[in-house]
Amino acid sequence: MSLQRIQNFIDGRWEAPLTGAYLRNLNPALGVAFSEIPNSGVEDVELAVRSAHQAFPAWSKLTPEIRSQYLNQMAHQIENRADEFAKMESLDQGKPVRLARNMDIDRSIRNFRFFAEEVLIEHKEHYQDSGFHSYVKRKPVGVAGLISPWNLPLYLLSWKIAPALAYGNTVVCKPSEFTSMTAALLAEVCLQIGLPVGVLNIVFGLGSPVGEAIVRHPKVPLISFTGGTETGRKIYRDSAENFKKISLELGGKNPNLIFADCDLEKAISATVRSSFLNQGEICLCGSRIYVEKSVLPQFLEKFVEATKNLKVGDPSQPETFMGALISEAHLKKVENYVQMARQEGGKILVGGDRPQLKSPFHQGFFFNPTVILGLPESSRCVQEEIFGPVVTVASFETAEQALELANGVEYGLSATIWSGDPRKAEKIAEHLNCGTVWINDWLLRDLRVPFGGMKKSGLGREGGRYSAEFFTEATTVVVKEN
Ligand code: NDP
Repeated sequence: MSLQRIQNFIDGRWEAPLTGAYLRNLNPALGVAFSEIPNSGVEDVELAVRSAHQAFPAWSKLTPEIRSQYLNQMAHQIENRADEFAKMESLDQGKPVRLARNMDIDRSIRNFRFFAEEVLIEHKEHYQDSGFHSYVKRKPVGVAGLISPWNLPLYLLSWKIAPALAYGNTVVCKPSEFTSMTAALLAEVCLQIGLPVGVLNIVFGLGSPVGEAIVRHPKVPLISFTGGTETGRKIYRDSAENFKKISLELGGKNPNLIFADCDLEKAISATVRSSFLNQGEICLCGSRIYVEKSVLPQFLEKFVEATKNLKVGDPSQPETFMGALISEAHLKKVENYVQMARQEGGKILVGGDRPQLKSPFHQGFFFNPTVILGLPESSRCVQEEIFGPVVTVASFETAEQALELANGVEYGLSATIWSGDPRKAEKIAEHLNCGTVWINDWLLRDLRVPFGGMKKSGLGREGGRYSAEFFTEATTVVVKEN
């Protein structure tokens, strides 16, 4: 069977990688290759940076209104082809098509529309002092290097591309080698709408050399990265060489605190989603569930029952809740954690194994949603990011204890609190060491608020004016008055 082959998108054209090499790209639900992506090299990054550099002066001088129009056109074209984008995202990532359509592609469209509006808002800073005044002039940074992971491919890539372009930067980006296909569709959209040549360049390939070459390139003054904590650490080091502006959105090990006074039905149904949506491959998934002791038996009974009823399998079926994990290596990593949990005395209440699926899905990278009880807090399954459909459950007796448990890991991305007492919940929220806390819901997002993590979950914030600040440089002008 001939495989679909995509090419790099450089200087407004499809370009074969100068290396001449390609990577076979698997459909995770079938475990077989369906496409080939460029295995690009440093020279391809060089061409892309040169193109983005040449395009920068003209693009950055366009008015925000004109750049906003381009972004709206991109949103419009993705919307026109939303089903095609969703099918491709599912094929490439393993997630259900319906989820890809309702979450990934919807949000990608929204990212472009949001920043198309946002760039039109002027955030003026002007200060009067005695005998002089100061004001702040913001300008685009230059060529933005954007590197994204495989779990929410276009969703996260567009979260970076849209503000980078809106605020007048040009872009060289690299999607994850596992999920490049919707980025290639986005390149088609750029051609369709006549985005000026060189404004957006996409180089496909591996983290090293491609991502690394972007991060190290002296003509790329800004790096926005979403991915794993270890990769983030390396990128932080590599970008320090040239003192780059950097934003790192890294891993999470997010707690769900479920208090006895909450609406337990709602908490359980949302916790099923926050545990297993997208196969648990969302940095914001709540993988550590802490339940107030008095309601633990009720919680477990219903939570386990609901988890058993989740449909795992064919991503094209509308009733499928969980598709396949991204790769065989990742599936094995998840299995290893479950094995470790068994050895540490954890009780697997549900899941813990691969589903037995019929052909053609029998070789896909599927794993059943898994709930583990009884692990000590020191367990690696409790402390480390598994990034799959595996959650641990433990109990607490007081709010102080819940807080201590929640803050007791090296990550600090998000948390969820379920309680019927909003004042109590808000007080706890303020003491949680993480970037976002949801009270009585999960994954609600207003794109104006700062998004990011603390501790090993990252550095910097993006969203609304936080993206505006990140994707621009400030010059303060001080004027002496006579
Ligand atoms: P990785 O860190 O492995 O990879 C992320 C991206 O970085 C990929 O495009 C990868 O390329 C690239 N890369 C790898 N090495 C380098 C390097 N040395 N220099 C530059 N780029 C490099 O993450 P995953 O793709 O495995 O994604 C999962 C991780 O992402 C999880 O830890 C998850 O928590 C985190 N994440 C965080 C989010 C947040 O907002 N905080 C949101 C979503 C995910 P390649 O694939 O070719 O290796």
